[in-house]
Amino acid sequence: MTIVAKFGGSSLANASQFEKVKNIVLSNPERKYIVPSAPGRVHKDEQKVTDLLILLYDLAVRNLNTREILLMIKDRYQAIIQDLELSIDLSQEFETIEKNLLSDLTLDYVLSRGEYLNGKLLAHYLGYEFMDPMELIYFLPDGRVDGKRTYAALDAMAKEHQKVVIPGFYGCGADGKVKTFSRGGSDITGSIIACGVSANLYENWTDVTGFLAADPRIVDKPHQINFITYPELRELSYSGASILHEEAVFPVTNKGIPIEIRNTNAPEEEGTYIIQDILDDPKEPPITGVAGRKNFSVINLQKIRMSQDLSFLRKALTVFEANDVFPEHIPSSIDSLSFIISDSYLENKRERIISELKTFCAPDEISISSGIALVTIVGRNMKNRVGISSKIFTTLADNNINIQMIVQGASEINIIIGVREEDFAPAQKVIYEAFFQKEPK
Ligand code: ASP
Repeated sequence: MTIVAKFGGSSLANASQFEKVKNIVLSNPERKYIVPSAPGRVHKDEQKVTDLLILLYDLAVRNLNTREILLMIKDRYQAIIQDLELSIDLSQEFETIEKNLLSDLTLDYVLSRGEYLNGKLLAHYLGYEFMDPMELIYFLPDGRVDGKRTYAALDAMAKEHQKVVIPGFYGCGADGKVKTFSRGGSDITGSIIACGVSANLYENWTDVTGFLAADPRIVDKPHQINFITYPELRELSYSGASILHEEAVFPVTNKGIPIEIRNTNAPEEEGTYIIQDILDDPKEPPITGVAGRKNFSVINLQKIRMSQDLSFLRKALTVFEANDVFPEHIPSSIDSLSFIISDSYLENKRERIISELKTFCAPDEISISSGIALVTIVGRNMKNRVGISSKIFTTLADNNINIQMIVQGASEINIIIGVREEDFAPAQKVIYEAFFQKEPK
């Protein structure tokens, strides 16, 4: 049996966290491939090394003094080395980084050093071999992972090596230079490695015991989800429940390898198990969890007999494509189309997009409004049960929450509702309570 264990930044933030990780890893010889993040934070006032590295890069590209920030970064690693009384010396590594800051500077390279250095430290501390993902994880020119090359490299590696630490978050770009995933991307590395070495389990160790059925900042003590399917997890992760990178599900899905979310600070507790399929149990609630995201805008286009104009939607989508804007949902009626778009896409582009839509689509009316939040209700069991939407809508109506938009995905594992931003938290709270805390009517 082979386990790939990924440890997040808070699990490796300092020496005492390193000790917990060592205990966990060595307590099961099947934990053969270990994927560390860069040191993160345990307390709110601490800095994540990756954030310090972003600052380091910003200073370096402007030719400003990097000494102080470099020292802060060095100190983070040095404190771990000293507290654990390790014999490893990272000064050579830091010299190389400093040299590269002056010559071959890319943001991805600088960012990746957090995981690289932590991997070196952890490998030394565990007595495991260190392997650089530059030789294991490859990207294509379009930025996607080169599956063929990557999985061949991992397969070959696994045949020769066991007990290996492989830093998360980066790999080798098509140009041969370091390329990182998006933030939180060590989760993806762990998943790719689990798939590449044909692991039986991908453990993702973090600072909470599992995936909660709602955001604990909104719902008081939501219950933990013990079992969840990959698609449900992806929906919830995408919709704001942030424990696992939303992309991390894909690689393991191919091989049906389960993911288990575990808590480094409470390894005795059972975590959340993420698997391909779970049989419907009528005793289980119809929904699995609720999550949400804020900061959306709606662009509304009205045109009489729009539904008879085959080119209308295409033209509107062309404008969005030309502006690199991704409309998340497109609810429609016979004479109108609405595009729900994350504000992050619209920054500095609102006026231009409106003007181009006016010119290209010639609508009778066009309007844009912001302050929309999306609340997603996820549940694999929804499709087999009657009355779920009715319960959601009645609950919202009873609480005087106005629904601005409704989308149900064809897979019927989610219902998404658009509400005003001020209703973002109340909507999630009342829906959670309706399904999990109140006696069914
Ligand atoms: N260290 C990176 C970040 O903070 C990647 C990761 O932790 O997964 O985003």
